[in-house]
Amino acid sequence: MKPKHVLVLPDQLTDQVGPLSSGEPGFTSVLMIESRAFADALSHHKKKLALVFSAMRHFAASLRENGFDVIYLQPVDFPQGISEYLSIHPGVTIDLMEPSDWGMRGQLVDAAERAGGEIRVAPNELWLTTNEEFDDWATDRKTLRLEYFYRAMRASRGWLMDGDKPSGGKWNYDADNRQVPNAGHRFPPVPRFEPDETTQAVLREVNDSWPGHFGDIDDFDWPVTRTQALDALENFLEYRLPMFGPYEDAMVDGEDVLYHSLLSVSLNLGLLHPLEVCEQALKRAEDPTNEIGLASIEGFVRQILGWREFVRHVYRTGMPGLRQSNGLEAQRPLPGFYWSGDTPMRCLNKCVEQVSRSGHAHHIQRLMVLGNFALIAGVDPVELNDWFLATFVDALEWVVTPNVMGMSQFSDLGSFTSKPYAASGKYIDRMSDYCSSCVYDVKSVSSENSCPFNSLYWSFIDRHQERWTTNHRMAMITGVWAKRDMKVKSQILERADDVLSRLSQGML
Ligand SMILES: Cc1cc2nc3c(=O)[nH]c(=O)nc-3n(C[C@H](O)[C@H](O)[C@H](O)COP(=O)(O)OP(=O)(O)OC[C@H]3O[C@@H](n4cnc5c(N)ncnc54)[C@H](O)[C@@H]3O)c2cc1C
Ligand code: SF4
Repeated sequence: MKPKHVLVLPDQLTDQVGPLSSGEPGFTSVLMIESRAFADALSHHKKKLALVFSAMRHFAASLRENGFDVIYLQPVDFPQGISEYLSIHPGVTIDLMEPSDWGMRGQLVDAAERAGGEIRVAPNELWLTTNEEFDDWATDRKTLRLEYFYRAMRASRGWLMDGDKPSGGKWNYDADNRQVPNAGHRFPPVPRFEPDETTQAVLREVNDSWPGHFGDIDDFDWPVTRTQALDALENFLEYRLPMFGPYEDAMVDGEDVLYHSLLSVSLNLGLLHPLEVCEQALKRAEDPTNEIGLASIEGFVRQILGWREFVRHVYRTGMPGLRQSNGLEAQRPLPGFYWSGDTPMRCLNKCVEQVSRSGHAHHIQRLMVLGNFALIAGVDPVELNDWFLATFVDALEWVVTPNVMGMSQFSDLGSFTSKPYAASGKYIDRMSDYCSSCVYDVKSVSSENSCPFNSLYWSFIDRHQERWTTNHRMAMITGVWAKRDMKVKSQILERADDVLSRLSQGML
């Protein structure tokens, strides 16, 4: 049998698919690279570095146990790692699954060529949909919208379908999924995965090597092996999937997870495959004794078959422009409290504190608090994108960039969304209990103590009103603003100026 060489990237930790799935123990040499340049590039959350490195080392150990020869390197960067490997195995061809991050393929292929070897790239099989499937669907479409992509993908797989009709008669149960739990609602506990010796060693290394990086290192409990990832999946299916839908958009002070899955962490490392996640969820939902309502299972499948796949194709087809876009010409530097959490704005303080502690916040916290504030305050989207890339344990370029630049900041002017996700404090008050213990008054728009989100929201509408009049989803609210009394408008805009000036002085 001919020896085989496989490069396994940090977000491809699987032997179930790709070149490694046909590797033979004894005949396959595996290269894994822990890049220092990656860790140095941004102030990555210490827990994120620990998660990635620990998961890689566990995966390397499991391959060795199965008889694979693993060369695990800690070079300056990926090109140097490839060059070191090719000095051990001169002139060989290394198989690789297509990297998800833009530019990575070229970087690796060039490095191998320079070092006298070759990299052969196979399709990335860690997705539910293929490039061809998306490209065929997207051809001749004027606009790319998740809803239609998701419907097409669901229909082609027959998931939650009655013949050619969606189960229950509706494609979308979003309207049922905007409930807020009553005070005192008890959420199911979330499993903790205690660090073993390998993880503890990584935690010490990370703390010693990057002490100034963002976030707390204590109480690390993320899953780092396939077995743990499967346990996390099982726990979600059993205890949180039944209620996933109704409270999907809610935010509760002191509750990090609610009924969310936390599965992005394992999915983005390759420890779980999105197909097995969806199939297992669908199977559970088929059994009526599990009491998983249609709004919950549909909501969950929409996130994975829909959003997760959709944004990665948007990224693939929109780069490199998407990463640099700034259509709203937002120039303000990222406020310091995104790093320190030091602000009396309760919603932002609590979300940053949560991210600093755990490396995670759920979708509505990311979109409607952390993203929304930056959007309406006119923060430079590239700076915000880097912040999201650094601070979340599940952050990878392919998923952060479309979500931040496109969905959250509208910096691409709507290449795949129909309106900016801008909102006043009213939305945050409706969907959370943050405002009741905030020093600011969410009901007031222009008083000295008014919620900063309120005046900033209207000044955002005002700043871009010409643009919004041609956007059918923003035209109505822009019309409301235009008709408001001039005196009231100028009071609101004055308060927005005051808020922005305090923001610039680090006093908000
Ligand atoms: C500004 C912003 C930044 C984001 N950054 C990231 C990120 O760094 N990494 C990341 O994986 N997701 C990111 N998302 C998408 C989404 O917020 C997270 O996937 C989700 O919060 C992860 O938590 P969960 O696993 O508990 O999700 P759940 O609510 O349980 O959802 C289930 C799964 O659906 C997928 N999903 C849901 N929404 C999206 C989406 N918009 N894009 C891609 N996948 C989605 C995820 O894989 C997630 O695990 C971001 C969204 C926004 C608005
Ligand atoms: S009042 Fe405003 S700043 Fe305070 S928590 Fe509510 S939305 Fe956030």
